[in-house]
Amino acid sequence: MNDAKPQLGYIGLGIMGAPMAKNLLDAGHPMTVWNRTAAKAQPLIDAGATLADSPADVLTKGASIVFINVTDTPDVEAVLFGERGLASAAVAGTVIVDHSTISPDATRSFAERLAKQGVDFIDAPVSGGDTGAKNGTLSIMAGGRREALERVLPLLNIVGGKVAHLGAPGSGQACKACNQVAVVTALIGVCEALALAKQSGLDLDQVLEVVGGGAGASWQLSNLGPKIATADHAPGFMIDLVLKDLNIVLDTAKRQGLPLDAAAHVTSLFQQIAEQGGGRLGTQAIAKAVEAAGGFRFA
Ligand code: NAP
Repeated sequence: MNDAKPQLGYIGLGIMGAPMAKNLLDAGHPMTVWNRTAAKAQPLIDAGATLADSPADVLTKGASIVFINVTDTPDVEAVLFGERGLASAAVAGTVIVDHSTISPDATRSFAERLAKQGVDFIDAPVSGGDTGAKNGTLSIMAGGRREALERVLPLLNIVGGKVAHLGAPGSGQACKACNQVAVVTALIGVCEALALAKQSGLDLDQVLEVVGGGAGASWQLSNLGPKIATADHAPGFMIDLVLKDLNIVLDTAKRQGLPLDAAAHVTSLFQQIAEQGGGRLGTQAIAKAVEAAGGFRFA
């Protein structure tokens, strides 16, 4: 039954990678996995995947399409070009799909280096959080050669509810930077709205319900609003990770001569929380900065 399905590789089995790999495996695709901390691969091995001992080994064990889902730009570089990295074993025709959120410029350079080996590198960062990863409903922003994207599209449609091809390598990452601007500015808006509601003596559940039914509705309001109201700061998406993304955003915008004042302000609030030791809290913990400035507590 699996004969017609390409052998897949999956590298990076964290909050996002593990459920995305599981969805591909559950769809019947043979899969070889590698994770820096091998123990985290065990649930996938138990579900039928094969364990590799390096990124290169994922390819030598037969994968022709490999997904990467690691933290930051240097981590993707290490997986690609480090010792026993993918580039050391990739043959012409291999397609590498990078779901990590990293620099668009570095992505272009990785794609150029790999193209010299006949290897396609598709940037495919995602939005929709750990819930979207588990449910296979992520929004996927892809950049890369159209023919290569078409080869992997059926696989992207398993892990995502929406896939957009933005253009050449790096354009998926450029779109993800735009996404993050929309996300964080909406988040601070929700937080300030709830601060005003709290200090006006309103019932926050009622405010969330009625505002969420009108033009104030957003993913941030419905998913993070209740957590802000109850001071639940457990991660979904960590402040350290959003700061990584905002550094990419501000660096890109600076080179384009765009001030992006709102995104820069939110970045400074996240930095404040991270400096106080809150880097591993969820992004909704930006509420702590709003509380400190206003001299009140949500809960
Ligand atoms: P995570 O749970 O911290 O997982 C990170 C993964 O990267 C782990 O498997 C880790 O291995 C691996 N890794 C990190 N550095 C590495 C290196 N130098 N070499 C090899 N492996 C390395 O993070 P995540 O939430 O899954 O995020 C993954 C990517 O998705 C990030 O780029 C993030 O910005 C993006 N993203 C996250 C969300 C979200 O809601 N979490 C949403 C959209 C996009 P170990 O297990 O050994 O640490």
